[in-house]
Amino acid sequence: MTRSIVVGSGPNGLTGAITLAAAGLDVTVLEAAETPGGGLRSHEATVPGLIHDMCSAFHPLSTRSSFARRFDLTQHGLQWAWPSVQYAHPLDDGTGGAALRSVDETAAGLGVDGAAYRRLFGPLAGRFDELAADILRPVLHVPRHPVTLARYGLASTLPATTLARWWQTPQARGLWAGVAAHAFHPLTSPMSSAAGLVLGTATHRYGWPVAVGGSGAIARAMIALLTSLGGRIETGVRVESYAPLADADVVLLDTSPRAATAILGDRLPARVARAYRRYRHGPGAFQVSLAVEGGIPWTYEPARRSGTVHVGGTLEEITEAERSSWSGQMPARPFVLVGQQAVADPSRARGDVQPIDAYAHVPHGFTGDATTAILDQIERFAPGTRERIVAVSTRSTAQLERENANLIGGDISNGANTALQLVFRPRVALDPYSTGVPGVYLCSSATPPGGGAHGLCGYGAAQAALARL
Ligand SMILES: Cc1cc2nc3c(=O)[nH]c(=O)nc-3n(C[C@H](O)[C@H](O)[C@H](O)COP(=O)(O)OP(=O)(O)OC[C@H]3O[C@@H](n4cnc5c(N)ncnc54)[C@H](O)[C@@H]3O)c2cc1C
Repeated sequence: MTRSIVVGSGPNGLTGAITLAAAGLDVTVLEAAETPGGGLRSHEATVPGLIHDMCSAFHPLSTRSSFARRFDLTQHGLQWAWPSVQYAHPLDDGTGGAALRSVDETAAGLGVDGAAYRRLFGPLAGRFDELAADILRPVLHVPRHPVTLARYGLASTLPATTLARWWQTPQARGLWAGVAAHAFHPLTSPMSSAAGLVLGTATHRYGWPVAVGGSGAIARAMIALLTSLGGRIETGVRVESYAPLADADVVLLDTSPRAATAILGDRLPARVARAYRRYRHGPGAFQVSLAVEGGIPWTYEPARRSGTVHVGGTLEEITEAERSSWSGQMPARPFVLVGQQAVADPSRARGDVQPIDAYAHVPHGFTGDATTAILDQIERFAPGTRERIVAVSTRSTAQLERENANLIGGDISNGANTALQLVFRPRVALDPYSTGVPGVYLCSSATPPGGGAHGLCGYGAAQAALARL
């Protein structure tokens, strides 16, 4: 039987492992942490019984991805739940913008900018499946839907601040800035619209759901499926050299390119080693988990019903905050993403106390404490939040990296989303998953299609490995 080893059990390690096991390979997953799942883990971070997500919380690209269509995780215990508002963007004057499942309803909330919103997102949302087939994979391929791809491609090359001129009001421009800032990259740089366009469009096709019971439920469903296919997981095993992998015919590395370089050593062809050394990591995240009595009292009412709230004020303020964290300066008012998963999944709460998972974009490897800056930003749009907080737990960039070696300097995307690394990740190659070592593939979010807990990097890497076999 063909033997395979997968190093790392994040969503990409697990989708890779499942794909190999479904093809009849013998699969062992080796995971450094005691709990499998990587970015798909949940824990009781604040008070007993309150379920917080350690990393990923919202899953716009997971419910109907090419992997999900082939492997139905709902058959293995996974349940999705959607908030009524997918993401919201409060402003200082108590107004804001809100993205709903429907393009029309979203547009209706944007006043004079509604028609422009509909013109941009309507056609893309109607063809999102076609778009996904072309963009959620390595870039070098013959497009399946060239017209849809061209429409998205033209807009995605623009800096987010240029695309923002599509709208006039601070509400619509703020709503756009919030979703575009998921790129963790200056909004004035080329291609900084790409992530916002994908996530914004996915909102209207699949929404931004959470997993009932916490993102850990996704990992549990994947592991149940993997086990049913004969695969196994060993936790508490950190792979630091090639020796434990030597007997395998196929190896998938759900690691950073840096860790892959250390593991593969001299086996790595010099040109690949050079490319992996040049691979660049982006700004970090500083996470604050809160237990909040009665939830956060946002002044902008739709934010109370929203799964995600983008906190940072106007387009101009977010542009400045993102520029600052990218260039290594901690912004006084950072961009903060607030997850209110219990809005969609009340089973996460205990009575009236809700779990909140927030993180700020901070400089790479930031060593300070961003807790006050994060709470100040929330309080700015939701006065009275501090009095409702029952418990707080924080994770610095260093803690994130200690708990998961892929989060280098707190970079949650396993690589900066520069224009070059968005298109060619982790290096310019026809097969970006290949490490150049026969049978060994990189499968983490440092490969196409990049960051997020969708698992499509692992799925792509496993397919590349099977094609080569
Ligand atoms: C605070 C935060 C919030 C986020 N929010 C979202 C969100 O809402 N939605 C979303 O889609 N994404 C979100 N993400 C990003 C998402 O979690 C990642 O993009 C995703 O988990 C990447 O998956 P992966 O499999 O590539 O790597 P990871 O999930 O990072 O998993 C890698 C695994 O490999 C293990 N490993 C690494 N090196 C070794 C080794 N040498 N030996 C053995 N094991 C090893 C690690 O311990 C880890 O378990 C968030 C991330 C963070 C940190």
